[in-house]
Amino acid sequence: MTTEQVAASINPWTVAQRQFDLAADRLNLDPGLRRVLREPRRELTVHFPVKMDDGSVQVFTGYRVQHNVGRGPAKGGIRYHQDVTLDDVKALAMWMTWKCAVVGIPFGGGKGGVVVDPKKLSRRELEGLTRRFATEIEVLIGPERDIPAPDVNTNAQVMAWMMDTFSMHQGYTVPGVVTGKPVGLGGSEGRNEATARGTVYCVAEAARHLGLDLRSSRVVIQGFGNAGSIAASLIAREGARVVGVSDSVGGIFAPEGLDIDRVLKWKAEHGTVRGFPGATAISNAQLLELECDVLIPAALENQITTANADRIKARVVAEAANGPTTPDADELLHSRGIFLIPDVLCNAGGVTVSYFEWVQDLNRDHWSEEIVNAKLHEIMVRAFDETVAMAAKEDVNMRTAAYLLAVDRVASATALRGLYP
Ligand code: NAD
Repeated sequence: MTTEQVAASINPWTVAQRQFDLAADRLNLDPGLRRVLREPRRELTVHFPVKMDDGSVQVFTGYRVQHNVGRGPAKGGIRYHQDVTLDDVKALAMWMTWKCAVVGIPFGGGKGGVVVDPKKLSRRELEGLTRRFATEIEVLIGPERDIPAPDVNTNAQVMAWMMDTFSMHQGYTVPGVVTGKPVGLGGSEGRNEATARGTVYCVAEAARHLGLDLRSSRVVIQGFGNAGSIAASLIAREGARVVGVSDSVGGIFAPEGLDIDRVLKWKAEHGTVRGFPGATAISNAQLLELECDVLIPAALENQITTANADRIKARVVAEAANGPTTPDADELLHSRGIFLIPDVLCNAGGVTVSYFEWVQDLNRDHWSEEIVNAKLHEIMVRAFDETVAMAAKEDVNMRTAAYLLAVDRVASATALRGLYP
């Protein structure tokens, strides 16, 4: 099987439950608590109509899942993708629960998705789909209940439409119902860059931990959207050489380093990084196996599996994406001495600044980007240090260490609240 076929054959929900089981075993978790935390609390599937530009009516399928709301409202993005499944959304919701607990912010885990390729929709169709989907999931969402945010193929504009739709139904403006909004609508400074910035903070900490000089390191990034392209810009600004990047069309490689500002311009003009002058075209599978110091998967799940883990050449793997590495591949990377910064830590900058945005919305406040970035840095460095300390204490890899911290925090909160009724 090719790397792509292996990726497609792995169910992220099975992966998420296996990762949880590893931590639950190690924590000797109470069997009742384990049964509770192993399943999502709520799963909503909706089928909803959208009027298309040609006058036809199409029916789309969407999901909203809340894995756990013990430590606060559910929090998690909305993904628009043609291949998204309920199991993908369940896995992503569970990962959100652990992520919020790793960085210690008072949210539970949720996620949403619509089965659609948004690139095939006009702007008007995209708005119609977003407003109707927001209406359908309104039974679950709200600033005290469940707060969506952007994910793959959704952005600040989509969040603005969701906020407006929810507010229209309430009869007043409710900025705190979603995060990742435009700054002029109650969005936070620094939110757009937050996921990538948190990843780069983690990479800098990992470099310090391993005695690696970031300024002379080579970086490869899979995915060139919100997380990947901004990580490329920020890490290049730190002096690192970004030698390869990719998107859904394919990758480009330049051993002397890519000029990221020019690649961004090229992508804006041509819709893909492919064809960038002076770079060699490579496949996404080849990109992952490039000789480099830091590999940042920033696209989709199941990219590093048993099919390619023994050929990954990076010293550090920094998971900006959710679920890019399977549990078997985790073991292989760990046994080869590759330092992996797990998704629940590495991409937690996004939800952390979403939390800042929500706090600002509830208080009708607005913080400067300096304040946002300083608070983000403090939280990411603390979470990184706690995870490294746990990995050393328990002699486990970084993912299991992050899970030990997170699952214990969520389990303790659940036990303290007790079982209702
Ligand atoms: P995005 O839609 O902005 O970008 C996704 C990128 O991945 C695009 O460049 C796309 O072309 C590329 N891509 C898609 N399929 C690919 C494939 N098969 N191979 C290579 N590249 C492919 O999405 P994003 O918000 O940057 O999300 C990327 C990852 O980061 C996801 O796993 C998401 O869950 C995670 N994440 C995002 C945020 C956030 O705040 N946006 C926060 C935490 C985690």
